[in-house]
Amino acid sequence: MRRPQDRLDILDKGFVRLVDAMGGDQAVVDAARVCYDSASKGEAQDRALIAYLMKHSHLTPFEHAVFKFHVSTPLFVARQWFRHRMASYNEVSGRYTEVKDDFYIPAQWRSQDSVNKQGSLASAGLDHRGLSAKLSAQVRGAVAAYRDLLAAGAARELARLVLPLNLYTQFYWTVNCRSLMNFISLRADEHAQWEMQQYALALAEFFRRRMPWTWEAFLEHAWKGRNPALTGGKP
Ligand SMILES: Cc1cc2nc3c(=O)[nH]c(=O)nc-3n(C[C@H](O)[C@H](O)[C@H](O)COP(=O)(O)OP(=O)(O)OC[C@H]3O[C@@H](n4cnc5c(N)ncnc54)[C@H](O)[C@@H]3O)c2cc1C
Repeated sequence: MRRPQDRLDILDKGFVRLVDAMGGDQAVVDAARVCYDSASKGEAQDRALIAYLMKHSHLTPFEHAVFKFHVSTPLFVARQWFRHRMASYNEVSGRYTEVKDDFYIPAQWRSQDSVNKQGSLASAGLDHRGLSAKLSAQVRGAVAAYRDLLAAGAARELARLVLPLNLYTQFYWTVNCRSLMNFISLRADEHAQWEMQQYALALAEFFRRRMPWTWEAFLEHAWKGRNPALTGGKP
């Protein structure tokens, strides 16, 4: 089934959905030009202005374009995501509601990178199906324990203690373009965990669609990372 344009599916059950947006390339231009009490000067000069702002890290005009996303990620991704303080968050509560039976089961496993201690490597030698089966069995046990605890009268806020980090959560994330660029710079880069990279790439796609001039300037002057999926195959 084709998904609507405003939603991109990520991993096995996650997604990023653009709920709302305010401003775009023109909002950046307008904010910059108010400094000089001048109006838009046509596309070529407005694009050049955005490139100039980006190149010289004059980034406050980019704060006038804002995105609101609805996101579904495993908890371990959300935990990394929430380190980004320059944004607004509201997350589903495991105290108010019973958690949904949604868990991330990787189809492809990676082995530990011995050089980059935070990193992992694609590995054909792993028993991918066996590892996924092991994780699925663990999840089934955790869900059964969660249900048992609830049935025995435990509060939702305590019963959830048996649930693993691959449980999916959902949150709203409102972020301005400046902070979004910081997020993409850090989390689309190959040093970020692969699962997190997939979300950052989806955010980048929404950013590119809505703010093409700023996206172009970002890639040219601000992006310092590595990820061929972001740069159309270029390293
Ligand atoms: C590959 C990778 C590995 C990581 N590993 C770890 C780890 O092992 N342990 C760990 O704890 N974290 C880790 N992090 C998280 C990282 O340290 C940041 O917390 C996270 O990336 C958010 O970045 P940020 O502070 O730029 O974003 P935001 O919090 O959104 O802040 C945006 C910008 O606002 C400014 N700012 C925000 N708050 C302050 C402040 N208090 N004082 C001054 N300026 C501020 C800074 O310029 C900052 O860049 C890792 C991140 C990455 C990408």
